Amino acid sequence: MNGPSNGDLLYSKKQIAGEIRRLAREITIAYAGEELILVVVLKGAFFFAADLARQIQLPLILEFVKLSSYRDMNSTGDVTMTKDVETSLTGKNVLIVEDIVDTGLSLAFLRERLLARGPKSLKICALIDKKERRKIEVKTDFTGLECPGGFLVGYGLDLNEKLRELPAIYELNE
Ligand code: 5GP
Ligand code: MG
Ligand code: MG
Repeated sequence: MNGPSNGDLLYSKKQIAGEIRRLAREITIAYAGEELILVVVLKGAFFFAADLARQIQLPLILEFVKLSSYRDMNSTGDVTMTKDVETSLTGKNVLIVEDIVDTGLSLAFLRERLLARGPKSLKICALIDKKERRKIEVKTDFTGLECPGGFLVGYGLDLNEKLRELPAIYELNE
């Protein structure tokens, strides 16, 4: 599948695969001898999570959440959870798997919600970190690619629900 005509290739299939191999190694080492619950943030992180989960050498449980955010002009970010996990997180190692951290508002919300369940540990793995765009402090524990900004599509990332199926990641032109 070709990329969008109004976009430039930012991260190739090969580059994404390389980052995921590294992340899987880091996660495997960090939780050695433990069980881990991956909490995947739909829909954007689903390809990432599928590739990552199959390379982590640990017993895993896969759970999914869906967030929706309403943003006004001031971008205060009013986030709600439209789909919750279906298992108890109490006393468990929980790793959030997210596609992109941008303003940080979604993850700050999710982190608080999941912390309230009393996990043994709660960490964040993000494929892409737009660090410079944070509005609220959120640190990722396992980070793939750092990117300054722009609007990205492909490998799960959408433009109005389309283009998620592209195997690489493209930056759309203005
Ligand atoms: P945040 O709450 O950190 O601002 O970002 C929330 C979500 O917005 C991300 O998890 C991601 O799903 C979406 N998002 C942020 N930047 C981009 C982007 O460049 N492209 C796409 N398709 N989605 C993005
Ligand atoms: Mg997301
Ligand atoms: Mg989206």
